[in-house]
Amino acid sequence: MLFPDTATMRRRGQPFTYGLRGTPTLRALEAAIDELEGSHGTVLVPSGLAAVSLPLLAFLSAGDHCLVVDSVYGPTRLFCDTMLKRLGVETEYFDPAIGAGLRALMRPNTRVVLLEAPGSNTFEILDVREAADIARAGGAVSMLDNTWATPLYFRPLDFGVDLSIHALTKYPGGHSDLLMGSVSATKDTFDRLRDAQMQLGINVSADDAYLVFRGMKTMGVRLPAHRDAALQLAAWLETRDEVARVLHPALPSFPSHDLWRRQFGGSSGLFSFVLAGGGRREAAAFLDALRLFGLGYSWGGFESLALEVDLSDRLFAKAPSEGPVIRLQVGLEDVKDLQTDLEAGFEALRDLS
Ligand SMILES: *Cc1c(COP(=O)(O)O)cnc(C)c1O
Repeated sequence: MLFPDTATMRRRGQPFTYGLRGTPTLRALEAAIDELEGSHGTVLVPSGLAAVSLPLLAFLSAGDHCLVVDSVYGPTRLFCDTMLKRLGVETEYFDPAIGAGLRALMRPNTRVVLLEAPGSNTFEILDVREAADIARAGGAVSMLDNTWATPLYFRPLDFGVDLSIHALTKYPGGHSDLLMGSVSATKDTFDRLRDAQMQLGINVSADDAYLVFRGMKTMGVRLPAHRDAALQLAAWLETRDEVARVLHPALPSFPSHDLWRRQFGGSSGLFSFVLAGGGRREAAAFLDALRLFGLGYSWGGFESLALEVDLSDRLFAKAPSEGPVIRLQVGLEDVKDLQTDLEAGFEALRDLS
């Protein structure tokens, strides 16, 4: 950033002064996300996890209490249990099925209620407006990790949530080639969020922002493709004897399906299923037989991925008892080919016994 003369340089309140403080490319991406989320302002950070840790650091101080849904993204839990703990913040986890019971957990020093809907890996849906209202009534800021639905299928601020969090790494990026996160805020919460971002000195570079911006231009056609393929496979998996349960909020059999229907405009390409019996050996046999599904942790990209889910850190939303949990990220490949690949996994299970 170059200024034509000293007088211009001394002028306060200019939109662009220094890279960290924002560039036209970053402003364009922030504005696009604001339009999708219905937010007052958005900040960009270098990863989805940073989009969780930044608002927690912005709104929590030593001596505060933080309520976090038990089915939260694993690394978020680690941040709460390590960094926040060291800084003197107490984290308390709550059952995603707690409903109005959340009110009883609010304390005078509860400053943040962190939600995720659906929950990571097990996909529980909570009543977002109810939780956000309870947080607000108790003087706490509510935040929701909205990565799964994207703003195309859910807008947390419309349900009273203060901050909507995204791993742009997933569907907005869409091509498994970048890391970024965003936090979109209400008018009342934005300044504090932006101040924290600048105090910590985190922002993103223009080239990365450009890639997310480009990915977002096709998100509207990619997401329905992920949605439809995932629903087809989920419904098919429900018919298989090797499967005890499918954990997908858009399936009528899912326990919190009605909450999903009432609040969400669609479903995306990530869901889990529970094998009917077996343990780690069976999970490995199934996964190792897959050829089209890669073994990988990320999701939201063009290619299908699978993994065995670890739920050992859960206090309330515990691991299903029937068997191991397999998570699928359904990409943009042909659904029939993906089904054939999963059939090979079941075949490998049969060969084991
Ligand atoms: C992947 C993910 C994140 C973190 O995103 P990164 O860019 O990988 O740090 C945060 N929340 C949820 C729900 C995620 O799935």
